[in-house]
Amino acid sequence: MNSPLIELRGIRKRYGGEGDTNAGEPSVEVLHGIDLDIHAGEFVALMGVSGSGKSTLMHILGCLDRASAGTYRFAGQDIASLSADELAWLRREAFGFVFQGYHLIPSLDALHNVQVPAVYAGVSATERETRAAQLLERLGLDERAGHRPHQLSGGQQQRVSIARALMNGGHVILADEPTGALDTQSGKEVMALLRELADAGHTVILITHDPQVAGQARRVVSISDGRIIRDTAPEAESEQAADTVSAAPASPDAGAFMARMAQGVAHGASWLADAGEAVGSAWRALSANRFRTLLTLLGIVIGVASVIALMAVGQGANESLMEKLAAFGNANRVAIAPGTDSRGLRGVITEADAQLLREVPNVSHAMPTIVGPVLLRAGDVDLSLTALAFTGDAMAIYNWEEMAEGIFLDERHERELATVIVLGSMAREKLFGAGEALGQYVLVNNVPFQVIGVLAPTRDGPETDNTVMIPFSTGSRRVFGNPYPWRIQVRLDDLERMRETVAAIDQTLQKAHGLKDFNILDQSKRVQAQREATRQQSLMMALIAGISLVVGGIGVMNIMLMAVKERTREIGIRMATGARQRDIQRQFLTEAVMVSLVGGVAGVAIGLLIGAALIAWGVAVIFSIRAMLLAFGCAAATGLLFGFMPARQAAKLDPVVALAGE
Ligand code: ADP
Ligand code: MG
Repeated sequence: MNSPLIELRGIRKRYGGEGDTNAGEPSVEVLHGIDLDIHAGEFVALMGVSGSGKSTLMHILGCLDRASAGTYRFAGQDIASLSADELAWLRREAFGFVFQGYHLIPSLDALHNVQVPAVYAGVSATERETRAAQLLERLGLDERAGHRPHQLSGGQQQRVSIARALMNGGHVILADEPTGALDTQSGKEVMALLRELADAGHTVILITHDPQVAGQARRVVSISDGRIIRDTAPEAESEQAADTVSAAPASPDAGAFMARMAQGVAHGASWLADAGEAVGSAWRALSANRFRTLLTLLGIVIGVASVIALMAVGQGANESLMEKLAAFGNANRVAIAPGTDSRGLRGVITEADAQLLREVPNVSHAMPTIVGPVLLRAGDVDLSLTALAFTGDAMAIYNWEEMAEGIFLDERHERELATVIVLGSMAREKLFGAGEALGQYVLVNNVPFQVIGVLAPTRDGPETDNTVMIPFSTGSRRVFGNPYPWRIQVRLDDLERMRETVAAIDQTLQKAHGLKDFNILDQSKRVQAQREATRQQSLMMALIAGISLVVGGIGVMNIMLMAVKERTREIGIRMATGARQRDIQRQFLTEAVMVSLVGGVAGVAIGLLIGAALIAWGVAVIFSIRAMLLAFGCAAATGLLFGFMPARQAAKLDPVVALAGE
């Protein structure tokens, strides 16, 4: 007689206590030294009352669990020496499990449930599908191939699970109370099927508490309280096995077995097929729970959309600042304002100072100005506005480009104290509407002025467009009644020499005044401050966007952890059918990344929509491809990062523990 396929020696199993998954609970030994040989092709029933340790023994036989003590040789190979991947190979190539509770994956239809073991064996999709369809037909289920488990009766589900057990050959069928949940008729059908398989050469190990069911096997091993108490002799069946072992995989020749295993463990589907499989299965799992998937998506969508929208707004703000800065004429201006001297007395600046400053090197213009509120009357329109009293240099100093009508103030107006004004475009609109403005008279604080020009709209906006401009000489004497300039605006030729020019201005004025009773307002400082403010604003926005992405990521992690908990049994089933740890990890990681990527795409779209709405609202918004790629990349990374932990947790589950899970 050849050596046994399965050889148990002194197998003990202890639950709880040191080194167990539920360590800390009191240790209980439920198998007390089992010795058992089973040859290829045998049809054995393990019989015993409930709680006698049958399922525990079956889990050990099927490599779902490890014994606490004793040796288990399969085809002459000590199981204890096998790695996790090798055990997974053994489960999918050598064993086929049939459980009392069927253990089908709820989100897959019958056809796909049957295919699961072949997926992990790396069989191509078409080959898999053909074989699964053949098996279902053989078991009379071809009409039910597209049904999900909840649409099938118990008997049908059990037949699907038998088809699954046969998918990779099912050389050793391990059936734990396969008829326990079935009505008499379905039970009979399932038993007939198992007998047929045994006749066809499969090794069938049937677990039952029912002597009548056990009686249909060719050998009955009785178990009580973790011990074998009776074993009907393994008689003639070994001879029968001898001529039908063709179906048995594992030749008991240890060397050949090891070679096959090494080959099988190394063999896998192509990288691409694996990825395709993972995406397909992730898609099915995600669409099985649409509402929850949608909620998870929402977190990512909000995160990505806010990154896109906030970055676009930030970019827009920055750009419009740059534009404003450009309008300042590269900021090559300084202003002189009256200040307080060392004795605390308020100083004044004069037109003479402006005259002096024109002599300073690198100063192109120096212009006294007075700014103040005035009352205007033109016809029956009364208006209160800001008046700017200055000279014709203003055009060059402020970078105003052109006149809409008439001419600007000039040297002659200044000299002659002319009562003429130039209107900003908004002021003109308010005073005259569509009517003629040039040549009209306007009362400025009750002094009549004649309109000689209208400035075209400027980049300054209302700050300039909503004002009236009068010659400095006329303004200071007749409108404001104040000979002293409010500011002297100075324009430089060369921005690069700003610092030395400012120093020269300082020196010149101190020499003239005999003391420092003025301030030099440097435009570049204002620019610097504004730039700083915008930068901080952008930083804030980036922070907010980053936080929303992290929140989205935590959402993904939360959902994935829940999914792992909820689908613990599915993980157990997949492991029982031969999934490696990395298969499980890849599946959950793919789900997380897929949610994130879909969320990323939707987020980009919504971010663009928000941006478009803001543009319609008049907010400066600039989209950048870089921001979109960044947000999208962040979403994918979020999925990977936050999906990793749950996926790992799923992969590390113990097959029996997972199978027992809810
Ligand atoms: P059977 O399948 O024969 O009904 P089991 O193998 O399921 O029996 O259980 C045998 C004994 O082991 C029972 O007393 C049961 O309470 C105990 N047992 C089974 N699984 C566990 C476990 N995970 N932790 C602790 N005790 C367990
Ligand atoms: Mg049991």
